[in-house]
Amino acid sequence: MNMTTSTGKLPGHPFLHRRGQQLMLEEVPLADLAARWGTPLFVYSKASMLAALAAYQRGLAGRKAQICYAMKANSSLAVLQLFARAGCGFDIVSGGELERVLAAGGDPAKVIFSGVGKTRAEMAQALRAGIGCFNVESESELDVLHRVASELGRIAPVSLRVNPNVDAKTHPYISTGLKDNKFGIAHENALAAYRHAASLSGLRVVGIDCHIGSQITDSAPYLDTIDRILDLVEEIEKAGIAIAHIDLGGGLGISYNGEAPPAADDLWSALLARFDARGHGGRQFMIEPGRSLVGNAGVCLTEVLYLKPGEEKNFCIVDAAMNDLPRPAMYEAFHQIVAVCENPGPGTLYDVVGPVCESGDWLGRQRLLHVAPGELLAVLSAGAYCMSMASNYNTRGRPAEVLVDGSQVHLIREREDARDQMRSERLV
Ligand SMILES: *Cc1c(COP(=O)(O)O)cnc(C)c1O
Repeated sequence: MNMTTSTGKLPGHPFLHRRGQQLMLEEVPLADLAARWGTPLFVYSKASMLAALAAYQRGLAGRKAQICYAMKANSSLAVLQLFARAGCGFDIVSGGELERVLAAGGDPAKVIFSGVGKTRAEMAQALRAGIGCFNVESESELDVLHRVASELGRIAPVSLRVNPNVDAKTHPYISTGLKDNKFGIAHENALAAYRHAASLSGLRVVGIDCHIGSQITDSAPYLDTIDRILDLVEEIEKAGIAIAHIDLGGGLGISYNGEAPPAADDLWSALLARFDARGHGGRQFMIEPGRSLVGNAGVCLTEVLYLKPGEEKNFCIVDAAMNDLPRPAMYEAFHQIVAVCENPGPGTLYDVVGPVCESGDWLGRQRLLHVAPGELLAVLSAGAYCMSMASNYNTRGRPAEVLVDGSQVHLIREREDARDQMRSERLV
């Protein structure tokens, strides 16, 4: 399988290309980075992240809009710093993420706090920091937030996450907009929940939000969502409760394996046309993109340790594993895997697997590769939900991370060692 086109470009990865046999990210040969910092190694392109953000900014140009990067996709400080400097707010899901935003120089007023299970301590922390909005997911959360805010003598800005009950047709673990999942408030209960919120002195209603799923590759579910949400907005405002902003969540997909999701600017021109048609084009818009800002900006470099031919299958055993890059094991997700230095000649079909003691520890199945032990592979589309989901299973240190900027490289996270992992533990 030769992924590279005659121009040296890899489809869907505009900042990744071949120079001769060598795989480059922007102007940097990836093999050099592996030689310098070892493997497994995550490498991100700054230009790719900023280009992905620019597509959203173009799509929303001339509107009142705030882009809040859903940082659970990749919460490394230098990545947050990059987006904060570019004007982004952040969609957080924990108090720890709020601390990261502050450490990276983000503006707390541009933070929205999502998630079904916020604790009182997290609510108090976010109120003290002065975040922009709590995206509340249940009526009981409204009551708790009202109490916590009242005790602190503050008023919590709130939006209710409404479940529009549209099917985003994604993997069941990453679809969130259907009736039978744990997220959001059912559409038919939303008006009552807004009335309840408006009656609580510790809360101030500022918006409405939804988030229908992830890796969505079609604009239709978003358009359906707009209609469902605008029906509600009109109903809620008729009841005398003003809705200042409309937050459509995140979820736009990326190309992992030839998927062709709409570009963010094209998607937003279609969505804004629908808002305009219904007379809501002057609203304040919020969006919470995660994967689509960072997913295809990153690769994970890994070294081939052993080739293990078998009767049924050949295994290519590499030094990256499910703890570093959990998406294949967790969702059976597909990531392209290519040789960092392309060898001429035909390949062999391999299952690419890691060293972890689990049969689920695989990165790719039945991949045509021409590689030898000691050579490097690049797992593509590894910028989102990889490092941020990495664990220490098997007492494996989490990988180092590098940010590429043109021909410059920055080590943005050191490789974790066993001592780092044992630091908070005690013998009895
Ligand atoms: C995860 C999440 C997002 C981001 O989703 P992506 O698919 O990465 O764009 C946005 N909003 C909420 C509430 C989320 O949970």
